[in-house]
Amino acid sequence: MKNGQSHLFIPGPTNIPDRVRRAMNVPMEDMRAPDFGDLTKPLFKGLKRVYQMTSGRMFMFPGSGTGAWESAITNTLNPGDRVLMSSFGQFSHLWVDMARRLGLDVHCIDVDWGKGVPVAQYAEILAADKAHAIKAVFATQNETATGVTSDVAGVRAALDASNHPAMLYVDGVSSIGSIDFRFDEWGVDLAVAGSQKGFMLPAGLSMLGVSDKALEASKTAGMPRCYFAFEDMLKLNDDGYFPYTPPTQLFHGLRESLALIEEEGLVNIFARHKRLAEGVRRGIFAWEGCRLCAQDRQWHSDTVSAIVVPDTIDARDVIRFGYDRYRTSFGSGLGKVMGKVFRIGHLGDLNEVMCLAALASAEMALHDAGANVELGSGVAAAQDWFLSSNAVAIGVAAE
Ligand SMILES: *Cc1c(COP(=O)(O)O)cnc(C)c1O
Repeated sequence: MKNGQSHLFIPGPTNIPDRVRRAMNVPMEDMRAPDFGDLTKPLFKGLKRVYQMTSGRMFMFPGSGTGAWESAITNTLNPGDRVLMSSFGQFSHLWVDMARRLGLDVHCIDVDWGKGVPVAQYAEILAADKAHAIKAVFATQNETATGVTSDVAGVRAALDASNHPAMLYVDGVSSIGSIDFRFDEWGVDLAVAGSQKGFMLPAGLSMLGVSDKALEASKTAGMPRCYFAFEDMLKLNDDGYFPYTPPTQLFHGLRESLALIEEEGLVNIFARHKRLAEGVRRGIFAWEGCRLCAQDRQWHSDTVSAIVVPDTIDARDVIRFGYDRYRTSFGSGLGKVMGKVFRIGHLGDLNEVMCLAALASAEMALHDAGANVELGSGVAAAQDWFLSSNAVAIGVAAE
């Protein structure tokens, strides 16, 4: 079937609003023109508002989120530095892997896939580190592979409880702009985002929020760096220029997506994601034999749900049938949950009926793959929730 629209329910790249897509349809322009800064300078400010960040610096690198991971590490640390990390899904695992490959001395806590950052263990380790050997603490705010959101404020509290000076590094690629993230309030030092998730843009821009403390550290940090170096960016960014060719179309798109974010308001965006996610979750709970990978309510992600299928079927079949028969893309099971999990991304430009479509399509694909899921059960549960809930009912400011 090639008629009608296809349906994208992977947790990034996400659906691009028409307004953003049109905004990117502009002729190529001169990135050294005298007025180029009129386009770029407000973007840094807009991003800082989304990060809830008033000091420090925002960087934009042509690249994907992974580039900002590398930039955060190489600009602020020294070879052999001890860092505290945790691994509980493919993305947190890959950041650990990068840190090791870049030559850091990584103390990694391996956590069950389905839980998140082990805040209590972090607190113990930091309290025991009287010599302050640990230079950096890492947290993946939203583990996209398992649909698990972690408590970044809790990590800050753990650092504060032992007066530990380590810097706090956060991966917010699938949370910033969709789930509450507070750079200032949580004392975050480096926060990574990417254009293709909550910002509703194509891939190609990686964003990095950097605190004043981290900027200071970058002046003496000794890891080799070049393309992602802060110092080259700093020389030119104040006037809105870049040390190499920046993706101008993406800047036009970002200007529009920041306008959309500002029109809706961060609080309302967070509430919408929470409400849509709850609808999807209720749908999943209605499916016999299926469960969320996230082990407990405290971990439930409002941007992506990873669904563990009955062990009599292969989640790869669900994904294949969804794509081949219903033109619906679901996220795959990554790393060690491959074949066991498929994912529904519910972030970005999304509404109730889109979520119902995802559930309806998933029910058919589950059926085709051999699962004993009652058709319409998840859809009905989500419909009930959407009818009975509104922003006030879930305790967040109304529109
Ligand atoms: C998507 C994602 C990344 C990687 O981003 P790329 O843009 O693919 O490099 C990193 N962390 C998380 C949590 C993600 O969801």
